[in-house]
Amino acid sequence: MAGLLEELAYTKGLAEGLLEGAESEAVVRIIKRLLALTELMASRITELELQQKKLGEYIETVDGDLDRLERTAYGISEDAVAESECPSCKEQLVYDSDVLNHGGKVECPACHQSVLLEAVER
Ligand SMILES: [Zn+2]
Repeated sequence: MAGLLEELAYTKGLAEGLLEGAESEAVVRIIKRLLALTELMASRITELELQQKKLGEYIETVDGDLDRLERTAYGISEDAVAESECPSCKEQLVYDSDVLNHGGKVECPACHQSVLLEAVER
């Protein structure tokens, strides 16, 4: 499917052809208003899509930074990471997978419950 602006240009072309032979002045005015409104909406939507894309990229960057910060704060090495979910508060738990070889229990940083881990490798 073509982009919003391309669809709009095509529709405007069709409408202009029809409007030249239109008999009712009121119908012509209404169609022109609808086209102007559609053009404004397409412009705003296109702008929002661009902003949303930029925001998505920014969130990915922040998420990566936060992940690195979390690994540093909890002393987790880059190559031995596992994660699980706290059964009490649903906090995402990220920990060194070596913990599994030593009893597999960690304390949830959010609710401080002792959690028996069932790891899913990243
Ligand atoms: Zn918890």
